[in-house]
Amino acid sequence: MRTNSLIIKGINSSLSNRTGQWSSRQAEIDPKKCIKCHQCFLYCPEGCVEILEDGKNVRVNKDYCKGCGVCAVECSVKAIKIISNL
Ligand code: SF4
Ligand code: SF4
Repeated sequence: MRTNSLIIKGINSSLSNRTGQWSSRQAEIDPKKCIKCHQCFLYCPEGCVEILEDGKNVRVNKDYCKGCGVCAVECSVKAIKIISNL
């Protein structure tokens, strides 16, 4: 059976493939709910959650987020939503 899916091989592959350019879903952080625990930073398999210069706040680098949802699952206060780009 033929599918239209695209296979990206290798860990951390979004950094070389700029996954966020074509991903249909991406993470969005609500800074009002965020308690700056950095679990999302630790668990993101692509390393695209960034800690800002203040050492507290986080943001998602949309160029590389593949929308896998790991960060949203690990966020204990539900500050992250996975948003459809479609
Ligand atoms: S896991 Fe949630 S609360 Fe913790 S830093 Fe990330 S968004 Fe903020
Ligand atoms: S959805 Fe979250 S864990 Fe997955 S790539 Fe994007 S920022 Fe990283």
